[in-house]
Order: sequence, then structure tokens, then C-alpha cells
Amino acid sequence: MTRRADRPGSLRLHREGVLTRRIEALETLLDPCALCPRACRALRRSGDLGTCATGPLPVVASWTPHFGEEPVISGRRGSGTVFLANCNLRCVFCQNHDISQKPRTFRDSAMTDEDLAAIHLELQDRGCHNVNWVSPTHQVPALVRGLDLAIRRGFGLPLVYNTNAYDSVEVLRLLDGVVDVYLPDLKYADPAAGRECSRVPDYPDRAREAIREMFLQVGDRWTLSPDGTLLRGLLVRILVLPNDLAGVEESLRWIAEELSPRVGISLMAQYYPTHHAAQPGRYPLLQRPISAGEWDRALEALERWTAGDHRYIQDFREAPGYYRPDFSDSEKPFPDLDDFLPR
Ligand code: SF4
Repeated sequence: MTRRADRPGSLRLHREGVLTRRIEALETLLDPCALCPRACRALRRSGDLGTCATGPLPVVASWTPHFGEEPVISGRRGSGTVFLANCNLRCVFCQNHDISQKPRTFRDSAMTDEDLAAIHLELQDRGCHNVNWVSPTHQVPALVRGLDLAIRRGFGLPLVYNTNAYDSVEVLRLLDGVVDVYLPDLKYADPAAGRECSRVPDYPDRAREAIREMFLQVGDRWTLSPDGTLLRGLLVRILVLPNDLAGVEESLRWIAEELSPRVGISLMAQYYPTHHAAQPGRYPLLQRPISAGEWDRALEALERWTAGDHRYIQDFREAPGYYRPDFSDSEKPFPDLDDFLPR
């Protein structure tokens, strides 16, 4: 049985009426929009669109139990992923570019709060361990509204915030207690890489501020359920890029020295050239998978800068072919779900 302290934080905030006030505060950030560090100032409720090309209503590309997250997230019954459409970054190698960078596809598919609440309840009914908002940054107010409604109707799973980490600290403070598990990327250590590969001038500073705030909220210790899935905690994902564009060692050193060497780390080998990075000559440094030498150096850095047990390491040989989504089938974007099942 789950102890009271291990229950999703959003249930308590809902019961105390705090969630309603958080939603109101989040919605003030929509008009003019300062939901993410781009601070486009678009009047989104009036129909203006900022860089993320998303209005005030939720736009969801796909929702499904997903078995390909880290075992502590997917467990045996899957993580209830809700893939939000569009994105506040413009990563030239985005694996999910079919849903993150083609806003016209989703122009007429905005949902209601009722729809969003129903998605949360459906994923709970399908046995998922958690609900996992994937790329939620630009849609946070709508998501929390949908969550509040879902809780009124019996929703009670832990909430995973699965983000590119280009998040506003102000927004994250309003999510304190709403989010149970933070699952941020830390994409680059060098602003030049963020400028070239994700089209933002200040990725490392903004992402580090955001991850520091997540750390302040949930710390470096994990709370696990009896089935071994994460109920509360922080797990930082570092995708190794060719030519060390990710700055793996620098990011790991920053986490160890500024936060804690015990912060959970997921080291990812799944990079393959796709989207703009697959176009010949356009991004020469991104046009190949990572080499065995690059992967070994990332592993050595992981060894050097982390302590504790919370580490996940992808399989270098299998990962690039393993995690390729196909969002043309929105109900089953990952074709080999059985391959992900824990053996
Ligand atoms: S959430 Fe979208 S509109 Fe708002 S600041 Fe970020 S990119 Fe701009």
C-alpha cells in the first residue's frame, strides 16, 4: 500500500485548493507569453502564436503506454506517455520532429480540458505506472487544468515532467508539488551548440537554472514504489552527440559540483542523424551516429562524476535502431513495444 507521504503531490494540492490558484498563476504567464525562457510575449489567448506555434488549448499528438523509458519510469506496465504537439525548441536532429515541428498538422486538433482529463484517466485505466507529459513546457497551464479535472474524477498516478529543460524557473516553482518526477534533458554545455542545434542563445544557463530548481524541489534521493517504479525524484538525461556537441563531461561535472554526484543520470546512445541533421551537408558535425570511442569517453566521464546507484546506460550497439518513433501511427508510435519489455 502506498503511504500517504508517497502519494502524488497533486492530490494534496487539489484537496487544499492550491491547484486552482496555481492554474490561475500559470495562466497569467500565457498573455503575454513568458511560459518558457524565449519569452516571446505572444498574446496566446487572443490567438497570437509564438515560436512554439501553440494557442492556449492543449494539443496532444499521441498518448499511449510506453515501455521504452528507463525501467524505473516504464516499469512492467508502461509509462502513460502524453506526447504534446509542437515545441519551444527547434532541435535540428529532433527524433520527434513529425510532432514537434509541424504545427500545421495539429492546427485544428486542439482539445478541451475534458479531453485531456479523459486521456489521464484512460492511461490510468490501462494500468500505467504514471502519466508522463512529454515536451510539456509550452502547454503547462492547459495540462494542469486537465490534471485538476482528472483528479476530480478519480485520477491518482504520479506525474512525470519529461522536458528539454528549456523551462522557466517561475513556471517550475508553480509546479512544485504538482510534479512528482522530473525527467529533464541536459542537451549542451556550450551555448554555441545550443544556438546551432536548437536555435536558442542561452541553453546551458537556462537549463541549468531549471534543473537546479527541480533539484531543490525533489533532491537527489528517490522514492520508489514497491514495484520499483519512481514515485518521486529527479533523473537527468544526457544524449551523447557526435563530435562532443553535448559536452557530456562538462554537464556531468556541473551536476556533481553544483547539485550532487548522486543525482540520477540516464546516459543515452540513441542518437542517429534525422530531420535537418540527415540532410547532406547541412550539419556536418551531426551527420553520423556516435563512435565507440565517443561512447567510451562518455562512460568514463559518468564513472568520474557520479556516485550512487541511480544510473541508466543505454546499449551502444542497439540504441540507435531501437528508439525510432513513427508518429504516423499515433496510437502506437513505437513499432516494437515488446522489445522494450523488461526481460
Ligand atoms: S511557450 Fe511558446 S509562445 Fe511562450 S515564450 Fe515559449 S516559445 Fe514563446
